Amino acid sequence: MSFRTDLHCHSTCSDGSLTPEQLVDLAVAKDLQGLSITDHDTVASYPQIIDYAASKGIQMITGVEFSAHFNEKSVHILGYGFTPSDPGILDLCERHQERRKLRNLEILKKLNALDLPITEEELYAIPSHTIGRPHIALLMVQKGYVPDFKRAFNRFLGDGKKCFVPGPMISVEETLDVIKKAHGKAVIAHPHLYSNKKFVRKVLALGFDGMECNYACLPFELNAPWHTMANEFALIRTGGSDFHGDKKPGIPLGASSVGLDVFQQLSQ
Ligand code: AMP
Ligand code: ZN
Ligand code: FE
Ligand code: FE
Repeated sequence: MSFRTDLHCHSTCSDGSLTPEQLVDLAVAKDLQGLSITDHDTVASYPQIIDYAASKGIQMITGVEFSAHFNEKSVHILGYGFTPSDPGILDLCERHQERRKLRNLEILKKLNALDLPITEEELYAIPSHTIGRPHIALLMVQKGYVPDFKRAFNRFLGDGKKCFVPGPMISVEETLDVIKKAHGKAVIAHPHLYSNKKFVRKVLALGFDGMECNYACLPFELNAPWHTMANEFALIRTGGSDFHGDKKPGIPLGASSVGLDVFQQLSQ
């Protein structure tokens, strides 16, 4: 049986719908042998989840998906293989929590001004470590302000929409520095989501170890250009589903995966 690992998924520690333990159980059910939980701006599921996974026969590598900015544009950086107690990683997670707190309050103010009130208490009653726009979008659906999650983004919360607030930004450069100092590997996430290839090349020039070349349910033709670019930059070619459970329906855990060779390269 060949080793398959999904290197990108989200738990209830950020905006996924399954707990870290449920993700591991699902990995077993999907016949995966390896997994990395990559929550947005938090490593709260580690190190405890590694022992649980081992007890179920799943090998884990530590992971995180940091929100960063280059030229004021959003870039998601996956970090792998760091020590979860690394002070630099924990400090960066803490800075993100502070950044998000300020930004979330600004977003709530804008919604309030449009007569779409959500209180800080309501938002922070959600038991996630990282709270952001997806949590606000869900509350908007629950309160009947929008018919669905997608429309909360399309009308109000998406980049550039009327309740969008960029908030304080943390650069790609400092994020790479923290991951490197923690002896982790830095991987540019979902490269097809950025504006164009030129932008991706500029970001890669800042010094990445890998690129997420197999993404979610994308077909081979759409992933292929990223494999070519990754080879050009001598990058590790990673992959994962970006599974969020029922928060992103239609994308199963294991939708994209990689083999033991990639898992080992990220662990070195
Ligand atoms: P935040 O980290 O709080 O800025 O929220 C970013 C997350 O919101 C992303 O990781 C996506 O999961 C989600 N998101 C961003 N833009 C959209 C969109 N237009 N439609 C649906 N979800 C989105
Ligand atoms: Zn997410
Ligand atoms: Fe992302
Ligand atoms: Fe993600």
